[in-house]
Amino acid sequence: MRSVDKIVFASTNRNKWNEYNDLLKPLTQLKLVMADEMIRNADKIGLVETHNSYLDNAIAKARLVNQGCHHPSLGDDSGLEVDALSNRPGVRSRRYAIPKSGQSQDQANIEKILNELKGRPFEARKARFITSLALVIDGILIHANGVLEGRIAEAPMGEGGFGYDSVFVPEGKTVTLAQISMRNKNELSHRSRAIHALLKEINAKGIILAKP
Ligand code: IMP
Repeated sequence: MRSVDKIVFASTNRNKWNEYNDLLKPLTQLKLVMADEMIRNADKIGLVETHNSYLDNAIAKARLVNQGCHHPSLGDDSGLEVDALSNRPGVRSRRYAIPKSGQSQDQANIEKILNELKGRPFEARKARFITSLALVIDGILIHANGVLEGRIAEAPMGEGGFGYDSVFVPEGKTVTLAQISMRNKNELSHRSRAIHALLKEINAKGIILAKP
């Protein structure tokens, strides 16, 4: 039986790390460490994100980091799919738009998506966030997915979160993910669903993560 007290997060995205770190807090002895603390070429992680599925990208990131540090490594890939845009931006969510001068990548992405959906009523703005997670541990691959259904707002609302949070209204809610706390986002998010599904799979494999 394998007991794990450290997992390396195969990403350079601090926003995602913050969310996973909070989600894993009940496992008080488990440390989620950013990849740049463990490998020298962490800035190359984004370069392996070349696949057409979230899961293949998550696996590629986890494998790259695992080969570099030989610790259990967690890869994550996520994206936003909009029904009316034939599921775009999808796996290309991060660099969906080309930023104008002075504009951040997130601002450019949001502007593009709002322009593409202009004139569509709220009911016709259905979308979902998807996360795939892959854990590479002692040559074993364990993976899981999480989905959050919702709609794209007509204009950005709220200051919190990251990425498309300010235009994403979860199903059954009237506010965007940027208008709620990270704690509240973690109660319903695609990332939270993926990590809980992954923890179940890890448990089913007889791997013990550090207990509370
Ligand atoms: P990747 O997983 O690093 O490929 O990035 C996916 C992109 O999807 C991010 O850069 C964000 O733009 C977007 N994204 C993924 N998850 C979220 C989320 O929880 N909120 C807002 N945007 C997200």
